[in-house]
Amino acid sequence: MKLQINFDNTKQNRLIAAGLLISTILIIAVSIFAISKIQEKLYESYANFGQLLGKTIAMQSYELTKDKTKEEKRAILKSHSVSILESNADISFITFKDNKDNIIFTSTNNFKDRAEHTKTNLSVPITNSKGKIDGTVEIGLNATMASSVAKTTKNSMFIVFTLVWAVFTAVILINTFLITRELATLHHGVKAISKGRFGTTLEHKDASGEIKELFNAFNDMSSRLHRYEEQNIEELTLERNKFESVLMNIANGVVVCDSNDAAVLVNPIAEHILSIKHNEIINTSFADYVDTEGTVCFKNEIETFKKTPLEIIEKKPLEFNVEVNTRIIKSVISPMFSKSHDYLGYIIVLIDITKEAEVDKLKSDFISNVSHELRTPLTILRSYIDTLYNFGDEFKFEEQKEFIGVINQEIIRLNNMVNDILDFSKLESNTRYEKQNGDIMLTLEKTLSNLKVLAQEKSINFIVEKDNNIPKIPYNEESIERVISNLVTNAIKYAPKNSPIDIKAAISEQNPDYVKITVSDKGIGISKEHQKKIFDRFYRVENDTHTIKGTGLGLHLVKVTIEKHHQGKVFVESELNQGSTFGFYLPINPTKENEEEIAKEAQA
Ligand code: ATP
Ligand code: MG
Repeated sequence: MKLQINFDNTKQNRLIAAGLLISTILIIAVSIFAISKIQEKLYESYANFGQLLGKTIAMQSYELTKDKTKEEKRAILKSHSVSILESNADISFITFKDNKDNIIFTSTNNFKDRAEHTKTNLSVPITNSKGKIDGTVEIGLNATMASSVAKTTKNSMFIVFTLVWAVFTAVILINTFLITRELATLHHGVKAISKGRFGTTLEHKDASGEIKELFNAFNDMSSRLHRYEEQNIEELTLERNKFESVLMNIANGVVVCDSNDAAVLVNPIAEHILSIKHNEIINTSFADYVDTEGTVCFKNEIETFKKTPLEIIEKKPLEFNVEVNTRIIKSVISPMFSKSHDYLGYIIVLIDITKEAEVDKLKSDFISNVSHELRTPLTILRSYIDTLYNFGDEFKFEEQKEFIGVINQEIIRLNNMVNDILDFSKLESNTRYEKQNGDIMLTLEKTLSNLKVLAQEKSINFIVEKDNNIPKIPYNEESIERVISNLVTNAIKYAPKNSPIDIKAAISEQNPDYVKITVSDKGIGISKEHQKKIFDRFYRVENDTHTIKGTGLGLHLVKVTIEKHHQGKVFVESELNQGSTFGFYLPINPTKENEEEIAKEAQA
């Protein structure tokens, strides 16, 4: 959920300014209209007042001058006019005329200043008792009173409207300020929540009405979120930690990618398989990963995965083998969904199957080697037996004996090979060897005498060095015979003609609890790289060249027999083209616990 509040200050301010302007114009217009109306009415009443005044003066003057001479009339009108003018500052002049429009008297000469400020003239007829017009009275009004009333009215109206405007403006501005302040407070609160600061509360001392309700609702929501967070955070952290620790400690490599291919989690095994530093590829596209050989390893498969419909890939994850940093990695890509089944990305599991791939290859080599090894002696046997059977009479006894010697050799070879294979399956099945205290020197000599014929074929001599102080030790004679036979056969096989083979048996100088037996030849030797692997089952250096045949089982049997079944140790020291020394240590007094452990393992 995304909450976005946009306070457009300029827009709001413009609205307020426009409101104020319009209300100011309205107030000014209303006040002008009101003032002009009041003035109009004022002047109208003023004109009425003038008429009334004129009529009164006309009536008074008629009454005062009735039956008087012209001179008397003038004098009376003069004194009457002066007394009126002196008592009323609004009248600027009074003029009396007879019925022929001749001026009887005018005050303009006596009140010159006033006459000059005349604003309104009006003329009223003077009528006698019979209703006949006897003359006219003209009055000038200077509107002093009217203008002072108008001025006062205007001023007071102006003050009243200005006050109204000021109060109105102040109310609008204060209200706007208060609302904006409350919105700003709310804005800060919402921002705090959006940043995860649940529990933030808003002060609302001065707020009222809907704003107060809004603030209360906000505070309620915030405290609920806070409580929810507190309740869930521990649970979520626990879940996350569990999930991460499972992934981190799983025996296979795991890479978790989001829907944009960015790696979001890489466990230590995956880092090791991919030869990358901790967090090196986090947040980068995993499809673009390049191994140390410069090969883009996963791009094509990730693209295939993404093209496959989710319903299909969900049921059957994409599996493939890929070479990463010269190792064979079995990879499985499966999609990742949320609880509501939204696609989140994918998980790639990486399993290093280099060893298994190697063993697979060795196994198939083994099968081809075994068949070849079996076929060769069988062919020889068939041809020799066939010759003897069909043409035996034609050969001399010596020749026949030689033929039978060859047949015997091949049978021994065949027998050895079959025994190796049988031993192998016996050792693999954890069968326990019975041990008896015996003289290891006797076993050694017996084995060597059996191999003498084989050695003689290559004119190889055994040089045996023995220690007469070797005590009797517990061992399984048959299996140790096979161990010695394997080592010596190898030495014969991989040494040149006419070269000696040294065989030594003695109590170990470094560790007198062990008997040490070594077989040294001056043969082709083994490189350091191969030395690490020659004791593995089916492993043969010659698989590369196929010059000398074998099954690759011999040294594996030696190692298992000595180390697993006799608590001993095998070793090899060799240099290419110089020769090799193979040997093993046998404990003089094997510990009971180890024996028991082996027994348990055998039973299991
Ligand atoms: P087999 O099972 O018939 O004995 P193999 O001799 O090939 O077959 P191992 O005895 O297990 O198998 O030997 C493994 C490999 O070690 C051989 O293929 C050979 O390359 C190397 N090797 C063993 N002994 C020697 C040796 N004395 N000199 C040189 N290489 C040796
Ligand atoms: Mg061998």
